[in-house]
Amino acid sequence: MAEKGKDTKSKNKLLHDKIVLEPKSSWITFNEKQRKDIFTFTDGYKKFLAESKTERLCIQNIITLLKKNGFKDINTITKAKVGDKFYKNVKNKSVMATVVGKNSRRWQLIGSHVDSPRLDFKPHPVYEDCGLGLMKTHYYGGVKKYQWVNTPLTLHGVAFTKEGRKVVISIGENENEPKFIIPDLLPHLAKNQMERKAPKIVEGEELNILVGNIPIDDKEIKEQVKFAVLKHLNAVYGIIEEDFTCAELELVPYNKPMDIGFDASMIAAYGQDDKVCVYTSLMALLKIKSPKNTAVGFFVDKEEIGSMGDTGAASFILKNFAYDYLRLVDPKMSCTKLLETSNAISADVTSGMNPTYKDVHDPKNVSYLGYGVSVEKYGGGGGKYSTHDSGAEYLSYIRTIFNTTKIAWQTGENGKIDLGGGGTIAMFLSQYGMNCVDVGPCVLAMHSPCEVTSKVDVYSAHLFYKAFFEA
Ligand code: MN
Ligand code: MN
Repeated sequence: MAEKGKDTKSKNKLLHDKIVLEPKSSWITFNEKQRKDIFTFTDGYKKFLAESKTERLCIQNIITLLKKNGFKDINTITKAKVGDKFYKNVKNKSVMATVVGKNSRRWQLIGSHVDSPRLDFKPHPVYEDCGLGLMKTHYYGGVKKYQWVNTPLTLHGVAFTKEGRKVVISIGENENEPKFIIPDLLPHLAKNQMERKAPKIVEGEELNILVGNIPIDDKEIKEQVKFAVLKHLNAVYGIIEEDFTCAELELVPYNKPMDIGFDASMIAAYGQDDKVCVYTSLMALLKIKSPKNTAVGFFVDKEEIGSMGDTGAASFILKNFAYDYLRLVDPKMSCTKLLETSNAISADVTSGMNPTYKDVHDPKNVSYLGYGVSVEKYGGGGGKYSTHDSGAEYLSYIRTIFNTTKIAWQTGENGKIDLGGGGTIAMFLSQYGMNCVDVGPCVLAMHSPCEVTSKVDVYSAHLFYKAFFEA
């Protein structure tokens, strides 16, 4: 009797298995031991996420890990050779870190962004109304504003005093510290509100956070609650109202990264876009020993507002770093040549198929949670507008890395044509002429205060980034 399996398959079935692509869950491609690795790795990821909610905190944690792993500050070295590791800190908001490869004239670069949607204080935030102390905010990045009310928020950032002293503020992450909140309208009296269109159910100017209620009992003071708030800030941090004009204070969700599902297979947390790619690529960079080509991790700010600005990918900070790198490693090499012959990954998340809102996706061309890290040839919207559309040659190179290392991957588009779209830093990397493609895990509830990923996709991203650095 023939053994069950291969021998019993018809000729057509054998050919079918060879030529027809049938996606399957990545979970079943990992054995028991490997599954343990997935859970151990993502435990580390959750810890990093919890401590890296803002771009400044994230960069701080990246630098701590780089230093711990032998990376030197670029300002402390005058020369670098094969195997050396160093990093450049750009205004505490972006970092480039590198391991010099045997071929120092080509970069294998992975870029991910450290900023996430949030609420920023306005330059004049503090006011009093109806016996309450409040602060005005201006949202940062693309948010559904109604998701940000009734959710506890914590506050992080910096302010500068008149004397130029930097004050670091961080309130609310510890359980016993106070939080902040935007109270929504009760349903009983929301008849008019509920008739508003969704983008206006909560409007930008309504994102005012509660910060105090106890007045200073002094008839000479007009706004006694506002004064009490400022008096508290002055006593604790030494800041005055004018210092808010020289500040970057950001409100982010209090929630901590948590496991989701009976099988704890998923993670819900704030800021996974794009700290999931930051962590998975950073861990890959820390693990590689002696890469063939130079490995570069680019952790960059401002993606959520279009990558503009002095710490964003649309600026020349990467090119500046290339000049710095060549000065240390290979002064005779042309910077243009280095950049245009390099390979890059724009490591960013994409949208996963949400079973409750299937109609926004083409089911044949969308990523599914649990089916591996996603490769996206292009993003943009409305006829591939405003994106980098990767070349087939480079995609072939990327596929070879996946298939030789047997790392789970899938590919798709962000959503149905003409329904919307999104950008990444891919077009700002590719402007140098380097090869580039987007690769990252897919996410549910992207840009909400609590985004969802599948652990197997997170781990697959990490494995791919490591293989790419070593390619
Ligand atoms: Mn992103
Ligand atoms: Mn985003």
